[in-house]
Amino acid sequence: MYEGIVQDLIDELGRLPGIGPKSAQRIAFHLVQTDPADVARLSQILADVKDKIRFCDLCGNVAEAPRCRICGDSRRDSSAICVVEEPKDVAAVERTREFRGLYHVLGGAISPMDGIGPEDLRIRELLSRLADGGVTEVIIATDPNISGEATATYLTRTLAPLGLRVTRLASGLPVGVTWNTLMR
Ligand code: ZN
Repeated sequence: MYEGIVQDLIDELGRLPGIGPKSAQRIAFHLVQTDPADVARLSQILADVKDKIRFCDLCGNVAEAPRCRICGDSRRDSSAICVVEEPKDVAAVERTREFRGLYHVLGGAISPMDGIGPEDLRIRELLSRLADGGVTEVIIATDPNISGEATATYLTRTLAPLGLRVTRLASGLPVGVTWNTLMR
């Protein structure tokens, strides 16, 4: 245990995902020794994140306005929607530069063990986006694990009556593999 504030900092950092006690301690002492201006910048960004960042009304991606940057871009192909679990997955697909359509962020995946069912995800919002017929293709890019697969299966079944082209993105592909979609 350290002096009050240092220990408080270590405790707070240790609550972040992926940061164990040793990393928390290392980051805390790094901050103690860092130039005050650098720490002030970090603390301002942390405040801004909670102040200014929200979720896009349409797709659920992170945004600084009612609509995110992608939904607000008229050059994107609005006939295709790529369904992902979390905003970080939007960023991952964007990095491939292979997809020019829009996204839909579910906010998680179906996981009965964690008590997460379809009604806990933004599936109703997805269906309402598909209702006007403007979207002709849905690409399901949930994670390649049990809950991601369960979610993909559920979505494929739910979307089947709509007569859309529904594909399952083979996610977790090695680097260099391009945007291949697999028919399910
Ligand atoms: Zn959006």
